[in-house]
Amino acid sequence: MTTTSTHTLGVEAAPRAAVASADAKKLINCEAVDVNQLMPLKYHWAWEHYLNGCDNHWMPTEVPMGEDIALWKSNKLSQDDRLVIMRNLGFFATAESLVANNISLAIFRYVTNAECRQYLLRQAFEEAIHTHTFHYIVESLGLDEREVFGMYSEIPSIRAKDEFEMQLTVDILDPAFSTSSEAGAQKFLENLIGYYVIMEGIFFYAGFAMVLSFHRQNLMKGIGEQFQYILRDETIHLNFGIDLINGIKEENPQLWDAAFQARMTAQIREAVELEKAYARDCLPNGVLGLNATLFEEYVEYIADRRLERIGLPKQYGANNPFPWMSETIDLGKEKNFFESRVTDYRRGASLNWDE
Ligand code: MN
Ligand code: FE
Repeated sequence: MTTTSTHTLGVEAAPRAAVASADAKKLINCEAVDVNQLMPLKYHWAWEHYLNGCDNHWMPTEVPMGEDIALWKSNKLSQDDRLVIMRNLGFFATAESLVANNISLAIFRYVTNAECRQYLLRQAFEEAIHTHTFHYIVESLGLDEREVFGMYSEIPSIRAKDEFEMQLTVDILDPAFSTSSEAGAQKFLENLIGYYVIMEGIFFYAGFAMVLSFHRQNLMKGIGEQFQYILRDETIHLNFGIDLINGIKEENPQLWDAAFQARMTAQIREAVELEKAYARDCLPNGVLGLNATLFEEYVEYIADRRLERIGLPKQYGANNPFPWMSETIDLGKEKNFFESRVTDYRRGASLNWDE
């Protein structure tokens, strides 16, 4: 029956014929506009993020790995260097697919807006590219694939971060879940904060800083370049997530009450502790230019910035121990950082019918 099938797409009682105005569109619980109706756009930010993601298209296999392979097989890296790199790969190898699963299995159906869904489809593919990257790195360096892809269950500090995230997905997968009640919509916002702000905005950034600090010393430059591409994508994922969270808050101000704000602040504080424990596991002795204390400071610094962007008070007041990270991010935004490849894709995308 029609009502049942539209319901499974996340739209209840969608009108069949009417071409509704953009004003009637809503981010969640939209009953007035068919979820397939992209135009007229209402959420221009979602469409912009989608276009920016397309402009940044890349594939991991374009990055040469020869120097990394030679370095990895040499005796120039210490055991401590190798530990940071392995635990870093071990976290990301699984984390990327957790994000992809959360989009496609949990949140997609509840975001009742076509332009946001267009972005989510792009993001889900980017997460697949990121998972592909870890497969490519493991294969290139000849790493033990079971060790890297199994680390999420073997290393307690990685498992703790993943379990924190997976519980948020499980909550939405509950057959009784719905965003139509206030508690349900708050659960949904909690999932978005858990994935966009905490996973992609905090856990990932600390991980990027680890590998990019090797890259700054001209070590593991192939992996470093791949991480720069991933960081550029994740910056857009984070910005989309923050726009979506703030948009839902604006349309449903009753959800953002004092108790919920306190609960989200506590969640972010808990995540910061999980990330600090992971940093101590990755850097038990420290390596050149890196130690666990600097990471703890960095995690607090980025957590404060994320809190502010969703309208919550700063918790830590830490300084940025890695100012070069923001330079890397800003370069990524301006796209003067891998211009040749980005341009190549653009050229490939606009076919010239005259020649
Ligand atoms: Mn990703
Ligand atoms: Fe992402």
